[in-house]
Amino acid sequence: MRNQRKSSASLILGVLLLAMVGGVAYLYNSSLFERIPPSIVLEKEIDWNLKEPIVVHVKDNRGLRFVRATLSDGEKNAVLESREFKILEESVDLNLTFPRTGFGANKKVFELTVEATDASKWNFFEGNSFVAKSVIKVDTRRPELAIIGSSYKIMKGGAASVVFKAEDDAMKALYIETNFGKKFYPTPFYKNGYYVSLVAWPSRAENFSASIVAIDKAGNISKAHIPYFLQDKKYKTSTIALQDKFLDGKIADLTAEVAPENNGLEHLKKFKFVNEDLRIGNENNILKVTSNVPTQMINDFAVKTFYPLRNGKVVASFGDYRFYEYDKVPVSESYHLGLDLASNAQAGMQTSNDGVVVFARENGIYGNNIIISHGLGVYSLYGHCSSYLVKEGDVVKAGDVIAKTGMTGLALGDHLHFGMYVQGIDVRPEEWMDESWLKDNIFSIMNSAKKIIDR
Ligand SMILES: [Zn+2]
Repeated sequence: MRNQRKSSASLILGVLLLAMVGGVAYLYNSSLFERIPPSIVLEKEIDWNLKEPIVVHVKDNRGLRFVRATLSDGEKNAVLESREFKILEESVDLNLTFPRTGFGANKKVFELTVEATDASKWNFFEGNSFVAKSVIKVDTRRPELAIIGSSYKIMKGGAASVVFKAEDDAMKALYIETNFGKKFYPTPFYKNGYYVSLVAWPSRAENFSASIVAIDKAGNISKAHIPYFLQDKKYKTSTIALQDKFLDGKIADLTAEVAPENNGLEHLKKFKFVNEDLRIGNENNILKVTSNVPTQMINDFAVKTFYPLRNGKVVASFGDYRFYEYDKVPVSESYHLGLDLASNAQAGMQTSNDGVVVFARENGIYGNNIIISHGLGVYSLYGHCSSYLVKEGDVVKAGDVIAKTGMTGLALGDHLHFGMYVQGIDVRPEEWMDESWLKDNIFSIMNSAKKIIDR
């Protein structure tokens, strides 16, 4: 009897113990007692112009009970926001603004502390807490921006230069924005805080305007319009009647060479493929290699006039707008982005300036195609070559013979297609072949700027 009582007592004890363990395990695993602290999205360092609030995202799966944001200037604290939630919130955005009480006047660096506690019963019913901190640098000053000098004018299809000063302790972005969406990037020039850039007005853009834009890390923006005089230029429009001989000759051959899968196309479709699809791909290849702008500081940009082909006669101009017809029916159109020069067959062509060969390969309508980088985002291009005398990566010197003229690609006779590019935009080669243009738009602008900088 006694034994029976004893064993039933231990049974009850055992059941109780099990229930307790089970209960604790249940609570330990229940969402009521979850142990995941809230998350706070806050960058370690924030540059703040005080115009826009600092937005802090606070989240907790169980629900937030309390959040607080405090700003400290090293001596005093200011509570920017303190909220207790009667109805639990899973996520809260704090929009913090700077106190208007005179707190932190004359101070530039602060520490922001954001604390959050969730509604869990864990931690003796205190809940889980998380604290995030950020160093806040208050910067309400716009970058300093001043134009030192610029070309007097820019011609439609041409280029121009600008030298300017841009300074900020925390510069984030510096570029020249245009009315046609293109951004030009400047190169550090002569002394710290000074920059030079070339800009280009595409021959297909009706209008041109350019402004320097400087943005600091706090989001303060300075802009300076570059006051170029705009010189319009009319480019030639011509209509070309397509001949069977050309379609079944050059066009068929070029298609067979670069896209044999299109051999079966009807001859006008073949022409459209070459003049449109192939051309776009080829021009994109050129855009890719000619868009790079060196970022190392330069002291000058002493380019000589380009004279790529001795006694080269101009056989087609830059900017020509060509319409193609077959039996008086319009078929296709294109722009001519270079200057065609012809002398003898397989004449040697030279680079007139030092540079690096950044492209030397077959490029569809441009045939065997060489592109040389001369610095400051300036590139020269040579198309239809019959042979290469340089390869990609070669460093070339002014006067080096780089290739022989030919008729590879979309060329009917032996000639050189000579192109000039400024940060990816095709520009009038004539300007770069003109000594007085170079003097007025590059040397004198940079030299007078240096004198002003030295003052
Ligand atoms: Zn050409």
